[in-house]
Amino acid sequence: MVMKMPSIFVKNARFLVTIDQTRRIIRDGSIAIDDGKIIDIGKTDKLQNNYGSSEIIIDAARHVIMPGLINTHCHTNHHLARGLADNVLFPTWIHERVYPFESTMNEHDVYLAAMACCIESIKTGSTCFIDPGGYNMEHAVKAVDESGMRAVLSRSAVDIHSNARAIPGKMREDTDNAANSSEQFVREYNGAAGGRVHAWFAPRTERMASTELLQRIKELAVKYETGITIHASSTQDSVLRHKEIFNGERPIERFNRAGLLGQNLLVGEANWLTDEEVSLIQKYDVKVFHIPTGSFHGAYGALQSKHLDMIKKGIAVGLGHDSAAESNFLDMFRVMYSVIARRDVNLDPTLAPPEQVLEMATINGARTALWENEIGSLEPGKRADLIIIDTMRPEWLPLHNPISNLVHSASGDSVSTVIIDGKVVMRDRIINTVDEQKMLMQIDEAGLSISERSGVSRYAIPRWPIS
Ligand SMILES: [Zn+2]
Repeated sequence: MVMKMPSIFVKNARFLVTIDQTRRIIRDGSIAIDDGKIIDIGKTDKLQNNYGSSEIIIDAARHVIMPGLINTHCHTNHHLARGLADNVLFPTWIHERVYPFESTMNEHDVYLAAMACCIESIKTGSTCFIDPGGYNMEHAVKAVDESGMRAVLSRSAVDIHSNARAIPGKMREDTDNAANSSEQFVREYNGAAGGRVHAWFAPRTERMASTELLQRIKELAVKYETGITIHASSTQDSVLRHKEIFNGERPIERFNRAGLLGQNLLVGEANWLTDEEVSLIQKYDVKVFHIPTGSFHGAYGALQSKHLDMIKKGIAVGLGHDSAAESNFLDMFRVMYSVIARRDVNLDPTLAPPEQVLEMATINGARTALWENEIGSLEPGKRADLIIIDTMRPEWLPLHNPISNLVHSASGDSVSTVIIDGKVVMRDRIINTVDEQKMLMQIDEAGLSISERSGVSRYAIPRWPIS
């Protein structure tokens, strides 16, 4: 049974940043919520009379209210490998660190890893993330459900094992198994957690999915009216290797031939695309996730990519952090800041204005999640996913321009209260849904244990001696 959510009135915000159609910013703003949805937004003195007796009243004086941030790429399965795969080339990263770690995880580890992502997301102001595929994902669904988070979750589909030496056993499926297991996950979990979980399909990378598998997944995604996410063209090497396997075709060209391109496809990191591939993405309204901080960590080339050009062409480009083994934090404020590195490499300080960056992390993230009708902005009728940010902090003052401060100055630590789907998930930095300290103890223990069991722990030491 779905319980009716309490009515909530958040009032007196110094600025309420709506990111609605007109990008309205309301000084002394308030927002009224009922049964999980936003029902009204406006000046506090206009709304006070109607909503002043709501069940929950939150005084947001000296705070900024904005839509919850949307992290369009978060590998829950990799999360507990934080710090185990730094300063290495990608083949080492994936084959010697991440695959052994991931394939050692048991079901409870998957739950704790996903819970760790949920807790870190909530504490830093993300209200939704997209997981691009893992295994035993029903346990990630459980973590998302319990934490109050919103997420797109998917089960990895892999049927090409060109580097069999390094591909763990459970990833060595044939086309039928990969498609059928993916379908089963979507059938069981799409719409789970009271609608907060959307289940998608996730062929893992361009080189790990056959054309037949891509075609079958496309048919299934259409059948279930859901999305598909896949890694493609993250590195120059990944494009070259793809061309070697597929008769010289580039990834997006093959996706086109397979019929995979469409409005329900989310592709990234997409750092190395030709103009022709960008045109195909635009033509088919394909969505794109951009991962600057993961690229900084692994040196993939995101600062040389065409993501800003894609935005100019109207393509939906969202931001993501990747995994904690790759961009070792989930704080989307730090990810937003990283986008402005474009200014430096191009010697152009007018690039990536903060309004554009904030759109990538909110409304455009919602477009990439195929969820823009319900989240990504604060507007009556949408689900109530919002964050309340404390501005009485040194990095926030003086507060001339809230959009500038959000992108250039803030960190996720300034998020004080988080509401997801009309539920107060965190209030004054205390998470209401789960016992954070107890979970963190278990998360730490699980990470160290998987590291030992997988043998990856030998990489867990600094180069300096520990006495
Ligand atoms: Zn990824």
